[in-house]
Amino acid sequence: MQGAGRFAPTPSGRMHLGNLFAALLAWLSARSQGLRFILRIEDLDVVASKSSYIPVIEDDLRWLGIDWDEGGLEGGPHAPYLQHERFDRYQQAFDLLQGRGLLYPCFCSRAELHAASAPHASDGQVVYAGTCRSLTAAQIAEKSRVKRPAWRLAVPDRTISFTDRRCGPYQEDLAAECGDFIVRRSDGLFAYQLAVVVDDAQMGVTEVVRGGDLIGSTPRQIYLQELLGCPHPAYAHIPMLIAPDGRRLAKRNKGSDAAVLRERFSAEEVVGWMAHAAGLRPNPTPLSPAQLVEGFSWNLVRGGDIVVGDAFL
Ligand code: GLU
Repeated sequence: MQGAGRFAPTPSGRMHLGNLFAALLAWLSARSQGLRFILRIEDLDVVASKSSYIPVIEDDLRWLGIDWDEGGLEGGPHAPYLQHERFDRYQQAFDLLQGRGLLYPCFCSRAELHAASAPHASDGQVVYAGTCRSLTAAQIAEKSRVKRPAWRLAVPDRTISFTDRRCGPYQEDLAAECGDFIVRRSDGLFAYQLAVVVDDAQMGVTEVVRGGDLIGSTPRQIYLQELLGCPHPAYAHIPMLIAPDGRRLAKRNKGSDAAVLRERFSAEEVVGWMAHAAGLRPNPTPLSPAQLVEGFSWNLVRGGDIVVGDAFL
């Protein structure tokens, strides 16, 4: 099969309705185009992730009616599929960027970052003021003695644009709206932005479907793809599921926890609810994911956040 879609959960807890919603739409889009479907485990943050959640995630996906061709604990041609086993790949990309003089060490503390930040925050992140961009070699050597730096990618004054399959045209001015961003944290862990670009490219991912909260990361990822010579996948950012108070569904919403959902509803009821909420069906009639493949189109998927009812809070 040509190309692949993927679902990339972080195993920091049991999935909730929002995760299942993202998995369903990613799977539907891939299957409707005849793409391979990959399950990648984003346990980059080894402290927040627990390997015991991986089989639980797999079991919840299978319960819902979602399968995958490669990835997860089953492996496949692009193994490993667990990010914590892929650090050597991220290191290679990091070395490539560093070798081209595109990275610089940043010693700023959290407090300094906030004090020096520009007011704009495209996705809740502050725009880095560039404080450490022009440190001399002597200054770097001195600061390194007392602190381990994070590493930032120096971004040019350039606008990155792309057309999202669901949201339409989107653009961001890298320098003004994003700023030099971190590709490796001061604790040595590689940043999500770098890892996701390396993984999507090496796994042959041609379509990325994920929560709308990540659309602001996409210009950074597209820029990294350019620098690393990776192809650009297509993107579809999906509506966020929110509580009536406007907050995103999260672990505190016990009714949306996969364990609770499985006690209260059948998989077909949950899929029916999601299909209706997404705009794929006029009413929440129970059905399987497979029944939604034919006729799936991003044109049908609604825009805007989806407010969930009390049953899922
Ligand atoms: N690991 C991210 C999450 O669990 C998804 C990242 C992505 O799909 O690019 O929300």
